[in-house]
Amino acid sequence: MRTIEHIYIDGAFVTPHGDELFELVNPATEQVIGRVRLGDAQDARLAIAAAKRAFPTHSQTSKGERIDMLKRMHEAVSAREDELFEAITEEYGAPISRGRWMARHAAAVLLDAARVLEDYAFERRAGSARVVMQPLGVAGLITPWNSNAGFICGKLAAALAAGCTAVIKPSEMSAMQTRVVTEALHAAGLPPGVFNIVTGRGETAGAEIGAHPDVAKLSFTGSTVVGKSILRNAAETLKRVTLELGGKSPMIILDDADFDIAVPLALEAGFMNSGQACIAGTRILVPQARLREFEDKMARAVADVQAGDPRDARTTVGPMVSRKQWERVQRYIGIGIEEGARLIAGGAGRPDGVSAGWFVRPTVFSGVRNDMTIAREEIFGPVLSIIPYRDTEDAIAIANDTPYGLQAYVCSADQARAGAVASRIEAGRVLVNTLAHEPAAPFGGFKQSGIGREYGVFGIEAFLEPKSVLGLA
Ligand code: NAD
Repeated sequence: MRTIEHIYIDGAFVTPHGDELFELVNPATEQVIGRVRLGDAQDARLAIAAAKRAFPTHSQTSKGERIDMLKRMHEAVSAREDELFEAITEEYGAPISRGRWMARHAAAVLLDAARVLEDYAFERRAGSARVVMQPLGVAGLITPWNSNAGFICGKLAAALAAGCTAVIKPSEMSAMQTRVVTEALHAAGLPPGVFNIVTGRGETAGAEIGAHPDVAKLSFTGSTVVGKSILRNAAETLKRVTLELGGKSPMIILDDADFDIAVPLALEAGFMNSGQACIAGTRILVPQARLREFEDKMARAVADVQAGDPRDARTTVGPMVSRKQWERVQRYIGIGIEEGARLIAGGAGRPDGVSAGWFVRPTVFSGVRNDMTIAREEIFGPVLSIIPYRDTEDAIAIANDTPYGLQAYVCSADQARAGAVASRIEAGRVLVNTLAHEPAAPFGGFKQSGIGREYGVFGIEAFLEPKSVLGLA
């Protein structure tokens, strides 16, 4: 069993002032696999001070220098792909194909930012003014456990590309992934203080970053409830804030859809990342007239979904990240049954034959009304709700009747019809007959799914402020 003893401040691995030891648990076995010593508010202050010292120099670097840094970081993280994959599997329990994607994604986002930067103009004209896009200052980057390495690298890439320096507060539950990423980024040889990484608790290290007057920008990915508290704290110093929060995404199956395509798509969208995905398509909207047909196909398809050992190549649904998360998902399955939704697959407890690990039975309810708790609240596990609708207008109304607006899916045989529906959906991204990701396109939420956008030009501009200079030729 290993203990992760160090955080990363000012270009060096240092022992934190905080002395709490936090246990790391393999969610597939419930075995304690390590410990991490957590940084506290004082560590966060030291990291912020280092980032503040590094800002004047980094903010003056040229575009070419930053592109070079991002490419070095990309190479360094790519070189550790196998170790990162191991850490993701061990500590988070992602199934093999997902874990591999996550490890590659962490490296890919660095190169994506370098590409965006190549074509990005930091200066433009507006009338007689010269408008300069100026980096905001020290950025606080706070990540969740469900894709920790990818969020560290993605947020850091955008911040550094813009010319900001950074203090990262990763999820305390993802310390092994964080360690691999930190070692890789250290090897990329950036100047001290440009990025700092303090693994610690949200209420201590995270809250300090969220309130500190020397932090100009916060980029947070996590739950809506914590996101709201971040926004409240940030108001005191008027920090610029990007919030990527929860979702309850609709998968709208139009009445002309081919169910041999729609059912596998809905399952993949719903169960991605073992259901622990903010963008999971958890509300499946199905035309009432074809409900029985959809349910039959869905029940047969779910029977083939393997939930279990993440190291088994056939597994697509791994364990929940923790006992707490498992209990939360079980509670929602109970609520669905109590509220009168009809189980067509799965249910409470662990999958058959599984006695240990935080595994959930892949679960699908049908006959769900959109006002039921399981249709309104983010469950963050492999639990899907089929909601019947009368006609397309009704489907659009149900899709938009949610406090969230992160992502939506439309499935139809007719591109024009699907496009017309997509145009009326209140969500930051709408995917038509696909689950593809586009790193150049903005990502983020309408309504209570967040504020601001990540990825591409919009992602870099989230770390910049326009400044107009007048009177110069
Ligand atoms: P969480 O909100 O509990 O924690 C997220 C991060 O915030 C962690 O690092 C945590 O330590 C930190 N934190 C907690 N309290 C804080 C505070 N007061 N000040 C500063 N930081 C604090 O979320 P989680 O349980 O780690 O992740 C799951 C949630 O993340 C889900 O709701 C999911 O929808 C959301 N999520 C959203 C996106 C997106 O892009 N929209 C992506 C992934 C996950």
